[in-house]
Amino acid sequence: MASVPELPEVETVRRRLAPVLTGHSFARVQIDDARLTRPFDPVEVARELEGERVQLVDRRGKYLIVRFESGRALLIHLRMTGSLRHAQHGDEQRGDEEPDPHRRAVVTLDDGSDVTYRDVRRFGTWLLLEPAEVDTYIDARVGREPLDAAYRAKHLAERLEKRRAPIKAALLDQRTVAGVGNIYADEALWRAKVHPLTPASELTPDEVAAVHKGMRESLRAGVRRQGSTLRDYRLPDGSSGRAQDRFEVYGRAGEPCRRCGTPIDKIRAAGRGTWYCPSCQVLRGYAASSSSSRPSRSRRQSSV
Ligand SMILES: [Zn+2]
Repeated sequence: MASVPELPEVETVRRRLAPVLTGHSFARVQIDDARLTRPFDPVEVARELEGERVQLVDRRGKYLIVRFESGRALLIHLRMTGSLRHAQHGDEQRGDEEPDPHRRAVVTLDDGSDVTYRDVRRFGTWLLLEPAEVDTYIDARVGREPLDAAYRAKHLAERLEKRRAPIKAALLDQRTVAGVGNIYADEALWRAKVHPLTPASELTPDEVAAVHKGMRESLRAGVRRQGSTLRDYRLPDGSSGRAQDRFEVYGRAGEPCRRCGTPIDKIRAAGRGTWYCPSCQVLRGYAASSSSSRPSRSRRQSSV
């Protein structure tokens, strides 16, 4: 099962890159794949990046934001399979190693070290934004940062109140809240005891509060887990443990719920594989109906 980087994975990349990049300038930039910067010319983007000095490495949801002292920012989205690797001696392409066919870009820093970007499926993006564009660009695409101390249940409630889509789909929408993907949406809803197909606007205030809390807890757990495997971590397949050991519901179909022992069920919601506990997470209004009505409902909803 492919696991796409979500907030915890990107946060881990951020923490690893921050000490490497902060205070250093991009001495030389080589972008080998025009898809990475399109519609902009990769050679031109590389030239623009050269000489920029990094002020801080930031993150919003799944966006990695390399903020430069000039006020410009390089917005990196890893999408499916993007990863960044730092090599102390910039020896990635020297010596007798075969050149990496999935390497898309290399940034050589002013201390001679390299940061290499590789991406097997090539959905990742690099976008250089001018100072005035940075915040408006990001605000238009992603909602609030769920791990911010100032992020409250009322902020989530505001984004859900007019949404008739299932809560799972609403959480996957990056404008609802930044950085939650398929794994952490399921984890959050299990913690909150909310069925993934519950229409978002029908959640009670208590349920919204529980989803808010569940989301923050599962994301924090994800950040801690990533942190513990930081040393040899490589996105996206550097998962050393088995998924079913690391998550409460995600990837655990047929295994007992850790709260009540009921086998975890897998359905489709928002077009994605969705794991939940049929006993802890009951769909209101469907509780008394036969279980055979549920799959057809999920199929119908996922196709729209
Ligand atoms: Zn359960």
